[in-house]
Amino acid sequence: MSVSVEEGLALLKRRLVEINDVRSAGAVLGWDQATHMPIGGAASRARQRATLSRLAHQKATDAELGCLLDTLHSQRQGVLEPDSSLVRVARRDFEKASKVPAGFVERASAHQSQSYAAWTRAREENDFAAMVPYLTKSVELSREYAEFFAPFEHVCDPLINEADEGMTVAEIRRIFSELRPALIDMTREIDDQARLDNSCLKGMFNEDQQIAFGLLVVEKIGYDLSRGRLDKTVHPFSTRFSSGDVRITTRVRTDEISESFFSTLHEAGHALYEQGVSEELDGTSLGRGASAGLHESQARLWENIVGRSYPFWEYWYPVLQNRFPGSYADVSLDGFYAAINRVERSLIRTDADEVTYNLHIMMRFDLELEMLEGRLNVKDLPEAWRARMCEDLGIEPETNREGCLQDVHWYAGHIGGAFQGYTIGNVLGAQFYETALQAHPDIPQQLQRGDYSQLLDWLRTEVHQHGRRYQPNELIVRATGKPLHVAPYLKYLCEKFDALYSLPVSKDRSDQLVTVQSNGALPTTGGG
Ligand code: ZN
Repeated sequence: MSVSVEEGLALLKRRLVEINDVRSAGAVLGWDQATHMPIGGAASRARQRATLSRLAHQKATDAELGCLLDTLHSQRQGVLEPDSSLVRVARRDFEKASKVPAGFVERASAHQSQSYAAWTRAREENDFAAMVPYLTKSVELSREYAEFFAPFEHVCDPLINEADEGMTVAEIRRIFSELRPALIDMTREIDDQARLDNSCLKGMFNEDQQIAFGLLVVEKIGYDLSRGRLDKTVHPFSTRFSSGDVRITTRVRTDEISESFFSTLHEAGHALYEQGVSEELDGTSLGRGASAGLHESQARLWENIVGRSYPFWEYWYPVLQNRFPGSYADVSLDGFYAAINRVERSLIRTDADEVTYNLHIMMRFDLELEMLEGRLNVKDLPEAWRARMCEDLGIEPETNREGCLQDVHWYAGHIGGAFQGYTIGNVLGAQFYETALQAHPDIPQQLQRGDYSQLLDWLRTEVHQHGRRYQPNELIVRATGKPLHVAPYLKYLCEKFDALYSLPVSKDRSDQLVTVQSNGALPTTGGG
């Protein structure tokens, strides 16, 4: 192909924007299906979405695109940023997509749709046995997928790399082995304390007023409603069609006020990331968030570190009291703050508090590795689940519905790669926040005033604007000066929950962490 670098780049962008347009059209159909579509549209909608996915996959693996990328790669000395990053990332995406045969993509996606439909029934009826054949096939397909990327150190590495590029089983085990003992200790210490009262979160709360309050808060934080909107759905999510259209959804219960609010804030965190990606990258391979863990870090930072903090509610609690006078006229700010931060050993991951949440994730991560390695038979999953719940949280589910059937991930996708991002996000959120605080020590005072500009500016500059220009690990080091590490997160949890629950050993642990931090990285404890 004899084209100049400029012509080649223009051609590349035209092709990438076209692929992106097909995918965005599919995303609009998905959003519509989850928000407004009548039930009668289900069958034709599944077909329409499958057609668009197939078209996008064809375009993304077109041999001419491969030639163009090879040519541009060979001319890379003459390509400036951000185009040189674009060529690098687009080439990697192309190679990855080309390794997976179209036949496999179709087989896997047909199986996943059937498995999802079976799971919605099985979960309702608490019937794990019905899912055993589906789950067994999912394990096989996940292994088959991994084989396209051989050689690898662990069969789950390619599946993890799909969501969290550059991460491996070995690295995640190292991080988790540093977190787990500390979190189990904290959960035990807190359990010995009197439980905080959260009854003020229950009652009768008008649906429209809840949505209006959530919207008021996320707009104040910086979610741009001229480039976004909020709708109701069964499972909250955020979705990007372009830099000018990034939407969020929420689920509302009229008998409880916190679920809708915090899920709105969480999804707005995802959406702020997408709205903050530099506009010049829009429609190309660089024009979106860099990984599942990075995305989750933004959602968790706003939901938990900011949204469950005392300074945040010093500003918003009077507004909430004003909007729900019947429920909050007699509840103090301290009482409300304690209620939204209550720690409780619970069976359901999505209801879990900040201290116990990661224990739910680590358990799923270990169990999926065991299934992929062939060390755990799918039929024995419920027993393994109960045993691990007992070990880590001291409680066990009476039904599989509250156990291994609760999450959709294993029943509508691959086994492996879908859970680690949540905990990576929690850890990273604290690491980003700590660095932002070093640059702007008065952020907490700004939160008291309902001012989010410095924090958001820092995140925009250091994280959001870059999209996928840097590999996740590279972006983390650029932004914080260090690779991903657990010390800031454990320090954050210790300080916060020590103040709420007076933890006996948290002081020692904090001191220990400060020492470890000043020496650089945390000690490596190896896999396990
Ligand atoms: Zn999320």
